[in-house]
Amino acid sequence: MRLKICAMLLLLLSLAAMAATALAQEPVHWGYVGEAGPANWGDLSPDFALCSSGTKQSPIDIPAIATVNPAGITFNYQDSGVNILNNGHAIQVNYDQGSSIEANGKTYNLLQFHFHALSEHTLNGQPSDMEMHLVHQSDDGEYAVVGIMMNRGAENTALASVWSNLPAEESEPAAAEGVTINAANLLPADRAYYNYSGSFTTPPCTEGVNWFVMANPIELSDAQAAAFEQIFNNNYRPVQPLNERAFLLSAEVAPETLPVSGGPAIPIGMMVIGAGTLIIGAGLYLRRRQTT
Ligand SMILES: [Zn+2]
Repeated sequence: MRLKICAMLLLLLSLAAMAATALAQEPVHWGYVGEAGPANWGDLSPDFALCSSGTKQSPIDIPAIATVNPAGITFNYQDSGVNILNNGHAIQVNYDQGSSIEANGKTYNLLQFHFHALSEHTLNGQPSDMEMHLVHQSDDGEYAVVGIMMNRGAENTALASVWSNLPAEESEPAAAEGVTINAANLLPADRAYYNYSGSFTTPPCTEGVNWFVMANPIELSDAQAAAFEQIFNNNYRPVQPLNERAFLLSAEVAPETLPVSGGPAIPIGMMVIGAGTLIIGAGLYLRRRQTT
């Protein structure tokens, strides 16, 4: 009798364990609108807690006074097959092994790139029509994401092999037949960038992500933007508090440049020279007035 009870208990316990495992493996549903939207991500699962409690979250509004680093990232991007999927949150292209960047003295391997509409980062409060994220990981597990603003303008032929294979419905990765892509062709010509420490912009909002947001946008046509927006038109997380982010002072190698909204950046050196000239000029003027 006792043996029977023991066996029953064991069976119950193992059933409970199986149920718990099944529950744990069930992915938590999240999205961009309503109850499952960004404002509630932190409450949807204990795994997502950082989405609300984190202090170094992404995206952010990059202020006009932020330091722009000169083009110092080395892009070692090779051709890749177009292994594309709709993961329910974005269109993603998984990149073949063998492409990487070198940034801040570290090598990060390119894993995948994907797209958001509108942009997630904003520059001086202004969003772009879309934003591309190139996601990299170093051998010791650190993430680096290159963010590129995308604005409506000329057709982007480098995107053609991806855009002709956009999966409208949620899908598994599938190799597009007979096409390749090289992510180097998707970069802006001027590769100056903002650098700051942030997070994934999707749950679980993991922090410690090295962000490199390109200061210059790329373009895509109205038709290309519309084709993407037919599938996703609100898959962006709103900007998060800056808190005490040191990125304003940025990398040690950065020249002290102040971007001027809507115009070219003026190096501080030039401003110092300009101010010095003004002071000397004013001094000379006053002296002349005193002597005459
Ligand atoms: Zn992203």
